[in-house]
Amino acid sequence: MALVGDASGSVDAITGEGLGIAFQQALALADALEREDLREYAAAHRRIARRPAFMADFMLLMDRWPLLRKRALQVFANRPDIFARLLAMHVGELPVLDFAAASFGLAWRMLL
Ligand SMILES: Cc1cc2nc3c(=O)[nH]c(=O)nc-3n(C[C@H](O)[C@H](O)[C@H](O)COP(=O)(O)OP(=O)(O)OC[C@H]3O[C@@H](n4cnc5c(N)ncnc54)[C@H](O)[C@@H]3O)c2cc1C
Repeated sequence: MALVGDASGSVDAITGEGLGIAFQQALALADALEREDLREYAAAHRRIARRPAFMADFMLLMDRWPLLRKRALQVFANRPDIFARLLAMHVGELPVLDFAAASFGLAWRMLL
């Protein structure tokens, strides 16, 4: 048995990624069914969820900590390039590893 979409576990709606994730999962499931190996789908499912789950955690963290949210928004306002990279990572246009450098810059500036 294989599940796709919200029934297979979802990220918080705040990411706005539920449908995109479901479509990616559907494609990954079709590939796995073609190869008759559902373990492939299980691995793809974990990979597909990783980035949105990170973004959901990050956004919910800002929701819980007003001071952190204020500081992050100040950094985004002063450094739109960091915000642009965060957004690019969020929509999958920037690899997570490349984003790691940006997030280090974000964390550093939030401490200053
Ligand atoms: C407030 C909110 C905002 C969101 N914003 C976005 C957004 O901006 N962008 C985005 O991509 N995603 C967004 N999402 C997420 C998105 O709505 C879901 O990820 C997506 O709808 C999941 O599709 P699905 O087909 O897996 O499940 P669903 O859309 O939940 O479909 C499941 C269907 O199965 C039916 N069903 C349930 N049980 C049974 C049963 N026993 N027998 C028959 N039918 C049954 C249900 O009635 C439902 O129609 C948002 C979600 C919420 C809650």
